Amino acid sequence: MLAVGIFLFVLFIPVAAVLILVWAVWAVFSFVRWIVSRILLGKPWPQTEQIPVARRCARSRCHADNPSHARFCRRCGQPVVQQFVLRAA
Ligand SMILES: [Zn+2]
Repeated sequence: MLAVGIFLFVLFIPVAAVLILVWAVWAVFSFVRWIVSRILLGKPWPQTEQIPVARRCARSRCHADNPSHARFCRRCGQPVVQQFVLRAA
């Protein structure tokens, strides 16, 4: 019984090491990406890609243009859905 426990423990170490290594690489990669985006693009990360300059309200009777960072329409108060811009293209 002890041998099985030792065997599982020995088997567990490489798996855990690989997982930690993968996580470490991912963390470093994310950090580098964050730094690069902060320096080169001058905007915070994470951020959704290709945000339109203005977000148009998805409500059919409103269609007010809102700032790209707006989450709710400044005219009618409805949530501003970015999908509307993609759908219109
Ligand atoms: Zn609106």
